[in-house]
Amino acid sequence: MNPTLVKHVLLPVHEGILGRGTLGYLRRLEESQHWSRRRLARLQAAKLRRLLTHAHRNCPFYRERMDAAGFDPTHAGPAGLKRLPLLTKADIRAHIADMCDRSVPGGLHPFNTGGSTGEPLQFFTCRGRQASDQAARARSRRWFGIDLGQREFYLWGSPVELSLQDRARGLRDRLTNHRLVSAFNMTPAAMQAALDEVRRFDPVHIFAYPSSLARLLCFARECGRRIEAPSLRAVFVSGEVFTRADRAVIEEAFAVPVADGYGSREGGFVAHQCPMGSYHVTVESHVVELLDDKGDDVHPGALGEIVLTHLDAFGMPFIRYRTGDMARRGAEHCPCGRPHDVITSIEGRRTDMLRTTSGGLAHGLSVIYVLRDAPGIAEFKVTQAPSLDLDVQIVPRGKLSPPQIEGIARGLRRQLGESLEVRIRVVDRIPPDPSGKHRHVVGPPVP
Ligand SMILES: [Zn+2]
Repeated sequence: MNPTLVKHVLLPVHEGILGRGTLGYLRRLEESQHWSRRRLARLQAAKLRRLLTHAHRNCPFYRERMDAAGFDPTHAGPAGLKRLPLLTKADIRAHIADMCDRSVPGGLHPFNTGGSTGEPLQFFTCRGRQASDQAARARSRRWFGIDLGQREFYLWGSPVELSLQDRARGLRDRLTNHRLVSAFNMTPAAMQAALDEVRRFDPVHIFAYPSSLARLLCFARECGRRIEAPSLRAVFVSGEVFTRADRAVIEEAFAVPVADGYGSREGGFVAHQCPMGSYHVTVESHVVELLDDKGDDVHPGALGEIVLTHLDAFGMPFIRYRTGDMARRGAEHCPCGRPHDVITSIEGRRTDMLRTTSGGLAHGLSVIYVLRDAPGIAEFKVTQAPSLDLDVQIVPRGKLSPPQIEGIARGLRRQLGESLEVRIRVVDRIPPDPSGKHRHVVGPPVP
Protein backbone atom coordinates (compact mmCIF):
# COMPACT_ATOMS: atom_id res chain seq x y z
CA MET A 1 0.00 0.00 0.00
CA ASN A 2 1.29 3.45 -0.89
CA PRO A 3 2.43 5.11 2.40
CA THR A 4 1.13 8.54 1.36
CA LEU A 5 -2.33 7.04 0.81
CA VAL A 6 -2.15 5.32 4.21
CA LYS A 7 -1.05 8.51 5.96
CA HIS A 8 -3.38 11.00 4.32
CA VAL A 9 -6.49 8.91 3.62
CA LEU A 10 -6.72 5.54 5.35
CA LEU A 11 -5.39 6.53 8.78
CA PRO A 12 -7.56 9.67 9.04
CA VAL A 13 -10.61 7.61 7.99
CA HIS A 14 -9.75 4.88 10.49
CA GLU A 15 -9.31 7.45 13.28
CA GLY A 16 -12.51 9.18 12.25
CA ILE A 17 -14.49 5.94 12.46
CA LEU A 18 -13.09 5.31 15.94
CA GLY A 19 -13.78 8.91 16.99
CA ARG A 20 -10.15 9.25 17.99
CA GLY A 21 -8.06 12.39 17.65
CA THR A 22 -4.62 10.85 17.20
CA LEU A 23 -3.52 13.10 14.35
CA GLY A 24 -4.47 16.33 16.12
CA TYR A 25 -2.70 15.10 19.22
CA LEU A 26 0.38 14.27 17.19
CA ARG A 27 0.46 17.82 15.78
CA ARG A 28 0.42 19.22 19.32
CA LEU A 29 3.19 16.84 20.42
CA GLU A 30 5.31 17.89 17.47
CA GLU A 31 5.07 21.47 18.71
CA SER A 32 5.53 20.93 22.44
CA GLN A 33 8.79 19.04 21.98
CA HIS A 34 10.34 22.37 20.93
CA TRP A 35 9.05 24.30 23.94
CA SER A 36 11.12 25.39 26.92
CA ARG A 37 11.14 23.11 29.96
CA ARG A 38 9.21 25.71 31.89
CA ARG A 39 6.44 25.97 29.34
CA LEU A 40 6.19 22.18 29.17
CA ALA A 41 5.98 21.99 32.97
CA ARG A 42 3.11 24.50 32.91
CA LEU A 43 1.22 22.35 30.40
CA GLN A 44 1.81 19.27 32.54
CA ALA A 45 0.58 21.01 35.72
CA ALA A 46 -2.54 22.32 33.98
CA LYS A 47 -3.36 18.89 32.56
CA LEU A 48 -2.81 17.31 35.97
CA ARG A 49 -5.25 19.72 37.65
CA ARG A 50 -7.80 19.00 34.96
CA LEU A 51 -7.45 15.24 35.43
CA LEU A 52 -7.59 15.42 39.23
CA THR A 53 -10.64 17.69 39.15
CA HIS A 54 -12.34 15.33 36.72
CA ALA A 55 -11.51 12.28 38.85
CA HIS A 56 -12.80 14.01 42.00
CA ARG A 57 -16.03 14.90 40.28
CA ASN A 58 -16.71 11.66 38.41
CA CYS A 59 -14.94 8.76 40.16
CA PRO A 60 -16.10 7.95 43.72
CA PHE A 61 -12.91 5.98 44.46
CA TYR A 62 -10.68 8.98 43.81
CA ARG A 63 -13.08 11.43 45.45
CA GLU A 64 -12.86 9.44 48.67
CA ARG A 65 -9.07 9.30 48.48
CA MET A 66 -8.73 13.02 47.89
CA ASP A 67 -11.25 13.98 50.55
CA ALA A 68 -9.57 11.69 53.10
CA ALA A 69 -6.23 13.41 52.38
CA GLY A 70 -7.79 16.89 52.57
CA PHE A 71 -6.65 17.34 48.98
CA ASP A 72 -7.89 20.14 46.73
CA PRO A 73 -7.62 18.93 43.11
CA THR A 74 -8.17 22.36 41.60
CA HIS A 75 -4.91 23.71 43.06
CA ALA A 76 -2.67 20.65 43.01
CA GLY A 77 0.63 20.49 41.14
CA PRO A 78 2.92 17.52 40.51
CA ALA A 79 4.56 18.04 43.94
CA GLY A 80 1.21 18.08 45.76
CA LEU A 81 0.34 14.78 44.14
CA LYS A 82 2.51 13.09 46.76
CA ARG A 83 -0.20 13.58 49.36
CA LEU A 84 -2.34 10.99 47.58
CA PRO A 85 -1.76 7.28 48.23
CA LEU A 86 -0.23 5.04 45.58
CA LEU A 87 -2.52 3.00 43.36
CA THR A 88 -1.84 -0.76 43.26
CA LYS A 89 -3.16 -3.52 41.03
CA ALA A 90 -5.04 -4.81 44.10
CA ASP A 91 -6.78 -1.41 44.44
CA ILE A 92 -7.84 -1.62 40.80
CA ARG A 93 -9.20 -5.14 41.18
CA ALA A 94 -11.16 -4.20 44.29
CA HIS A 95 -12.55 -0.82 43.16
CA ILE A 96 -12.66 -0.75 39.38
CA ALA A 97 -16.39 0.00 39.26
CA ASP A 98 -15.86 3.17 41.32
CA MET A 99 -12.79 4.29 39.39
CA CYS A 100 -14.37 4.84 35.98
CA ASP A 101 -16.33 7.61 34.32
CA ARG A 102 -18.79 5.82 32.07
CA SER A 103 -19.91 9.04 30.38
CA VAL A 104 -16.49 9.69 28.82
CA PRO A 105 -16.76 10.56 25.06
CA GLY A 106 -16.41 7.40 22.94
CA GLY A 107 -17.13 5.17 25.94
CA LEU A 108 -14.96 2.78 27.90
CA HIS A 109 -13.02 -0.04 26.23
CA PRO A 110 -12.01 -3.09 28.28
CA PHE A 111 -8.49 -4.46 28.25
CA ASN A 112 -6.88 -7.43 29.91
CA THR A 113 -3.21 -7.79 30.53
CA GLY A 114 -1.30 -10.77 31.81
CA GLY A 115 1.49 -8.49 32.96
CA SER A 116 5.03 -9.73 33.04
CA THR A 117 4.48 -11.12 36.52
CA GLY A 118 1.53 -13.15 35.30
CA GLU A 119 -0.91 -11.26 37.50
CA PRO A 120 -3.90 -10.60 35.29
CA LEU A 121 -5.39 -7.11 35.36
CA GLN A 122 -8.57 -5.86 33.77
CA PHE A 123 -8.90 -2.16 33.13
CA PHE A 124 -10.54 0.31 30.75
CA THR A 125 -9.20 2.81 28.26
CA CYS A 126 -10.98 5.67 26.53
CA ARG A 127 -10.53 7.10 23.03
CA GLY A 128 -8.67 10.19 24.26
CA ARG A 129 -6.11 8.09 26.04
CA GLN A 130 -5.66 5.80 23.03
CA ALA A 131 -5.08 8.85 20.83
CA SER A 132 -2.51 10.19 23.27
CA ASP A 133 -0.55 6.92 23.42
CA GLN A 134 -0.71 6.40 19.65
CA ALA A 135 0.43 9.93 18.96
CA ALA A 136 3.37 9.65 21.38
CA ARG A 137 4.40 6.46 19.62
CA ALA A 138 4.17 8.13 16.21
CA ARG A 139 6.25 11.07 17.42
CA SER A 140 9.01 8.76 18.66
CA ARG A 141 9.12 7.16 15.18
CA ARG A 142 9.52 10.55 13.57
CA TRP A 143 12.61 11.18 15.70
CA PHE A 144 14.13 8.49 13.47
CA GLY A 145 12.73 9.82 10.20
CA ILE A 146 9.86 7.33 10.04
CA ASP A 147 6.47 8.71 9.13
CA LEU A 148 2.95 7.40 9.63
CA GLY A 149 1.94 4.78 7.09
CA GLN A 150 5.41 3.41 6.33
CA ARG A 151 5.79 -0.37 6.28
CA GLU A 152 6.17 -1.77 9.79
CA PHE A 153 7.02 -5.36 10.65
CA TYR A 154 5.93 -6.55 14.13
CA LEU A 155 7.55 -9.43 15.93
CA TRP A 156 5.18 -9.33 18.83
CA GLY A 157 3.06 -11.59 20.99
CA SER A 158 0.40 -9.50 22.55
CA PRO A 159 -2.62 -11.73 23.12
CA VAL A 160 -4.90 -8.82 22.20
CA GLU A 161 -3.30 -8.43 18.78
CA LEU A 162 -3.27 -12.15 18.13
CA SER A 163 -6.86 -12.77 19.18
CA LEU A 164 -8.22 -10.81 16.21
CA GLN A 165 -9.61 -13.05 13.53
CA ASP A 166 -6.91 -13.80 10.98
CA ARG A 167 -8.85 -12.35 8.07
CA ALA A 168 -9.79 -9.15 9.85
CA ARG A 169 -6.21 -8.79 10.97
CA GLY A 170 -4.89 -9.43 7.48
CA LEU A 171 -7.14 -6.73 6.04
CA ARG A 172 -6.31 -4.19 8.73
CA ASP A 173 -2.61 -4.96 8.35
CA ARG A 174 -2.74 -4.46 4.58
CA LEU A 175 -4.60 -1.18 4.97
CA THR A 176 -2.17 0.18 7.54
CA ASN A 177 1.05 -1.28 6.14
CA HIS A 178 1.62 -3.63 9.10
CA ARG A 179 2.78 -7.23 9.19
CA LEU A 180 2.55 -9.16 12.43
CA VAL A 181 4.48 -12.33 13.15
CA SER A 182 4.05 -14.02 16.53
CA ALA A 183 7.01 -13.79 18.88
CA PHE A 184 5.48 -16.59 20.93
CA ASN A 185 5.94 -19.17 18.20
CA MET A 186 9.67 -19.34 17.58
CA THR A 187 10.11 -22.86 16.19
CA PRO A 188 12.75 -23.30 13.46
CA ALA A 189 10.03 -23.54 10.79
CA ALA A 190 8.26 -20.42 12.10
CA MET A 191 11.55 -18.51 12.19
CA GLN A 192 12.33 -19.48 8.58
CA ALA A 193 8.85 -18.25 7.63
CA ALA A 194 9.41 -15.00 9.56
CA LEU A 195 12.66 -14.35 7.70
CA ASP A 196 10.87 -15.02 4.38
CA GLU A 197 8.20 -12.54 5.42
CA VAL A 198 10.81 -9.86 6.22
CA ARG A 199 12.32 -10.32 2.77
CA ARG A 200 8.95 -10.18 0.98
CA PHE A 201 7.56 -7.27 2.99
CA ASP A 202 10.80 -5.22 3.02
CA PRO A 203 9.85 -3.16 6.13
CA VAL A 204 10.92 0.43 6.73
CA HIS A 205 10.83 -0.19 10.48
CA ILE A 206 10.59 -3.17 12.80
CA PHE A 207 8.92 -3.37 16.21
CA ALA A 208 9.84 -6.33 18.39
CA TYR A 209 10.55 -7.81 21.77
CA PRO A 210 14.34 -7.43 21.86
CA SER A 211 15.00 -11.01 22.98
CA SER A 212 12.73 -12.44 20.27
CA LEU A 213 14.33 -10.39 17.52
CA ALA A 214 17.84 -11.26 18.75
CA ARG A 215 16.86 -14.91 18.78
CA LEU A 216 15.55 -14.71 15.22
CA LEU A 217 18.75 -13.01 14.06
CA CYS A 218 20.99 -15.55 15.81
CA PHE A 219 18.95 -18.30 14.18
CA ALA A 220 19.49 -16.70 10.76
CA ARG A 221 23.21 -16.52 11.41
CA GLU A 222 23.35 -20.17 12.46
CA CYS A 223 21.56 -21.18 9.24
CA GLY A 224 23.87 -18.97 7.18
CA ARG A 225 20.91 -16.88 6.00
CA ARG A 226 21.44 -13.27 5.03
CA ILE A 227 18.91 -10.80 6.46
CA GLU A 228 17.34 -9.00 3.55
CA ALA A 229 15.63 -5.73 4.46
CA PRO A 230 17.03 -3.09 2.09
CA SER A 231 14.46 -0.40 3.01
CA LEU A 232 14.93 -0.75 6.76
CA ARG A 233 15.71 2.56 8.51
CA ALA A 234 15.24 1.79 12.23
CA VAL A 235 14.40 -0.93 14.74
CA PHE A 236 12.23 -0.27 17.80
CA VAL A 237 12.03 -2.62 20.74
CA SER A 238 9.88 -2.71 23.86
CA GLY A 239 8.21 -4.99 26.39
CA GLU A 240 11.20 -6.23 28.35
CA VAL A 241 14.61 -5.16 29.56
CA PHE A 242 16.83 -4.40 26.58
CA THR A 243 20.16 -6.07 27.33
CA ARG A 244 23.48 -5.00 25.85
CA ALA A 245 23.85 -8.46 24.32
CA ASP A 246 20.53 -8.22 22.44
CA ARG A 247 21.36 -4.69 21.29
CA ALA A 248 24.70 -5.86 19.91
CA VAL A 249 23.07 -8.69 17.92
CA ILE A 250 20.40 -6.39 16.44
CA GLU A 251 22.80 -3.55 15.59
CA GLU A 252 25.23 -5.89 13.95
CA ALA A 253 22.58 -7.60 11.83
CA PHE A 254 20.88 -4.45 10.54
CA ALA A 255 23.33 -1.55 10.87
CA VAL A 256 20.47 0.92 11.47
CA PRO A 257 19.55 2.89 14.64
CA VAL A 258 17.93 0.76 17.36
CA ALA A 259 15.78 2.40 20.06
CA ASP A 260 13.94 1.11 23.09
CA GLY A 261 10.61 2.32 24.43
CA TYR A 262 9.07 1.87 27.84
CA GLY A 263 5.36 1.54 28.38
CA SER A 264 2.62 -0.94 29.06
CA ARG A 265 -1.00 -1.50 28.16
CA GLU A 266 -2.22 -0.01 31.40
CA GLY A 267 0.50 2.63 31.78
CA GLY A 268 0.53 3.89 28.19
CA PHE A 269 3.47 5.25 26.21
CA VAL A 270 5.69 6.42 29.06
CA ALA A 271 9.18 7.01 27.65
CA HIS A 272 11.21 6.41 24.51
CA GLN A 273 14.84 6.63 23.50
CA CYS A 274 15.83 9.48 21.21
CA PRO A 275 18.60 9.08 18.62
CA MET A 276 21.13 9.99 21.36
CA GLY A 277 19.96 7.09 23.51
CA SER A 278 18.23 8.93 26.40
CA TYR A 279 14.78 7.79 27.47
CA HIS A 280 12.57 10.88 27.13
CA VAL A 281 9.53 10.83 29.41
CA THR A 282 6.32 11.74 27.57
CA VAL A 283 5.83 14.68 29.92
CA GLU A 284 2.87 15.91 27.87
CA SER A 285 0.83 12.87 28.92
CA HIS A 286 2.53 11.45 32.01
CA VAL A 287 3.74 12.44 35.44
CA VAL A 288 6.47 9.91 36.21
CA GLU A 289 7.79 9.52 39.76
CA LEU A 290 10.73 7.29 40.64
CA LEU A 291 10.34 6.25 44.26
CA ASP A 292 12.42 4.41 46.84
CA ASP A 293 11.00 1.95 49.38
CA LYS A 294 9.86 4.77 51.66
CA GLY A 295 7.97 6.48 48.85
CA ASP A 296 10.47 9.33 48.46
CA ASP A 297 11.90 10.52 45.13
CA VAL A 298 15.24 8.88 44.38
CA HIS A 299 18.30 11.00 43.69
CA PRO A 300 19.64 11.38 40.14
CA GLY A 301 21.41 8.19 39.17
CA ALA A 302 19.59 6.06 41.75
CA LEU A 303 17.17 3.22 41.08
CA GLY A 304 13.49 3.68 41.89
CA GLU A 305 10.10 2.17 41.13
CA ILE A 306 8.22 3.85 38.30
CA VAL A 307 4.96 5.35 39.56
CA LEU A 308 2.88 7.08 36.96
CA THR A 309 -0.11 9.29 36.41
CA HIS A 310 -1.61 9.25 32.91
CA LEU A 311 -2.81 12.77 32.11
CA ASP A 312 -5.10 11.76 29.23
CA ALA A 313 -6.87 8.83 30.91
CA PHE A 314 -10.23 10.35 31.77
CA GLY A 315 -12.39 7.23 31.33
CA MET A 316 -10.42 5.32 33.95
CA PRO A 317 -7.86 7.56 35.61
CA PHE A 318 -4.54 6.05 36.67
CA ILE A 319 -3.27 8.32 39.43
CA ARG A 320 0.04 7.39 41.10
CA TYR A 321 -0.05 3.88 39.66
CA ARG A 322 2.69 1.51 40.88
CA THR A 323 4.07 -0.20 37.80
CA GLY A 324 6.46 -2.53 39.61
CA ASP A 325 9.12 -1.56 37.04
CA MET A 326 12.46 -0.13 38.08
CA ALA A 327 14.38 2.69 36.41
CA ARG A 328 17.26 5.02 37.08
CA ARG A 329 16.67 8.74 37.15
CA GLY A 330 18.72 10.90 34.81
CA ALA A 331 20.52 13.93 36.18
CA GLU A 332 20.79 16.17 33.15
CA HIS A 333 18.70 16.85 30.15
CA CYS A 334 19.48 15.24 26.90
CA PRO A 335 21.98 16.95 24.59
CA CYS A 336 19.49 16.42 21.74
CA GLY A 337 17.69 19.49 23.11
CA ARG A 338 14.23 18.00 23.63
CA PRO A 339 12.92 19.41 26.90
CA HIS A 340 11.55 16.22 28.48
CA ASP A 341 12.74 14.66 31.73
CA VAL A 342 15.17 11.84 31.17
CA ILE A 343 15.50 8.31 32.52
CA THR A 344 18.94 6.77 32.06
CA SER A 345 17.92 3.11 32.08
CA ILE A 346 14.97 0.79 32.56
CA GLU A 347 16.10 -2.12 34.69
CA GLY A 348 13.24 -4.55 34.80
CA ARG A 349 10.64 -5.67 37.24
CA ARG A 350 10.82 -4.86 40.88
CA THR A 351 10.25 -8.58 41.48
CA ASP A 352 13.37 -9.41 39.41
CA MET A 353 15.57 -7.37 41.74
CA LEU A 354 17.54 -9.01 44.50
CA ARG A 355 18.58 -7.51 47.80
CA THR A 356 22.07 -7.38 49.20
CA THR A 357 22.85 -7.90 52.87
CA SER A 358 24.03 -4.29 53.05
CA GLY A 359 20.48 -3.11 52.26
CA GLY A 360 20.93 -2.35 48.55
CA LEU A 361 19.19 -3.61 45.44
CA ALA A 362 21.04 -5.75 42.92
CA HIS A 363 19.95 -6.35 39.39
CA GLY A 364 19.01 -9.95 38.62
CA LEU A 365 21.73 -9.98 35.97
CA SER A 366 24.37 -9.84 38.72
CA VAL A 367 23.59 -13.44 39.66
CA ILE A 368 22.62 -14.51 36.16
CA TYR A 369 26.19 -13.80 35.05
CA VAL A 370 27.59 -16.01 37.83
CA LEU A 371 25.49 -18.97 36.71
CA ARG A 372 25.80 -18.33 33.00
CA ASP A 373 29.57 -18.29 33.24
CA ALA A 374 29.75 -21.49 35.31
CA PRO A 375 30.39 -24.55 33.15
CA GLY A 376 28.00 -27.51 33.12
CA ILE A 377 24.72 -25.64 33.73
CA ALA A 378 21.81 -26.10 31.31
CA GLU A 379 19.13 -24.16 33.20
CA PHE A 380 18.77 -22.40 36.50
CA LYS A 381 16.45 -20.39 38.71
CA VAL A 382 17.42 -18.28 41.71
CA THR A 383 14.76 -17.41 44.28
CA GLN A 384 15.49 -15.05 47.16
CA ALA A 385 13.55 -15.57 50.41
CA PRO A 386 12.39 -12.69 52.65
CA SER A 387 15.38 -13.61 54.88
CA LEU A 388 17.54 -12.84 51.76
CA ASP A 389 18.85 -16.43 51.64
CA LEU A 390 18.99 -17.93 48.16
CA ASP A 391 17.37 -21.06 46.79
CA VAL A 392 19.09 -22.09 43.56
CA GLN A 393 17.71 -24.76 41.25
CA ILE A 394 20.10 -26.07 38.62
CA VAL A 395 19.52 -28.45 35.74
CA PRO A 396 23.06 -29.67 35.00
CA ARG A 397 24.58 -30.70 31.72
CA GLY A 398 26.08 -34.00 32.85
CA LYS A 399 27.24 -34.01 36.45
CA LEU A 400 28.24 -31.16 38.75
CA SER A 401 31.07 -31.83 41.21
CA PRO A 402 30.94 -30.58 44.84
CA PRO A 403 33.80 -28.07 44.20
CA GLN A 404 31.82 -26.70 41.20
CA ILE A 405 28.73 -26.29 43.36
CA GLU A 406 30.77 -24.59 46.10
CA GLY A 407 32.27 -22.27 43.45
CA ILE A 408 28.79 -21.18 42.35
CA ALA A 409 27.70 -20.51 45.93
CA ARG A 410 30.85 -18.45 46.48
CA GLY A 411 30.18 -16.41 43.35
CA LEU A 412 26.61 -15.66 44.45
CA ARG A 413 27.73 -14.61 47.95
CA ARG A 414 30.27 -12.29 46.39
CA GLN A 415 27.43 -10.48 44.60
CA LEU A 416 24.90 -10.24 47.42
CA GLY A 417 26.71 -10.65 50.74
CA GLU A 418 29.10 -13.10 52.39
CA SER A 419 26.71 -13.98 55.22
CA LEU A 420 23.99 -15.32 52.90
CA GLU A 421 22.93 -18.92 53.03
CA VAL A 422 22.90 -20.37 49.49
CA ARG A 423 21.02 -23.63 49.01
CA ILE A 424 21.76 -25.29 45.67
CA ARG A 425 19.47 -28.05 44.44
CA VAL A 426 20.22 -30.12 41.37
CA VAL A 427 16.91 -30.91 39.62
CA ASP A 428 15.74 -32.56 36.38
CA ARG A 429 13.60 -29.68 35.21
CA ILE A 430 12.40 -26.26 36.34
CA PRO A 431 8.69 -25.64 35.84
CA PRO A 432 7.66 -22.26 34.34
CA ASP A 433 5.78 -19.57 36.27
CA PRO A 434 1.97 -19.60 36.19
CA SER A 435 2.25 -17.02 33.36
CA GLY A 436 4.19 -19.54 31.27
CA LYS A 437 7.41 -17.50 31.41
CA HIS A 438 10.71 -18.87 32.60
CA ARG A 439 12.19 -16.41 35.05
CA HIS A 440 15.81 -16.91 35.98
CA VAL A 441 15.59 -14.71 39.04
CA VAL A 442 12.77 -14.16 41.50
CA GLY A 443 13.32 -11.48 44.10
CA PRO A 444 11.93 -11.39 47.64
CA PRO A 445 8.34 -10.17 48.10
CA VAL A 446 8.06 -6.40 47.62
CA PRO A 447 7.36 -4.62 50.93
ZN1 LIG B 1 17.45 13.13 23.55
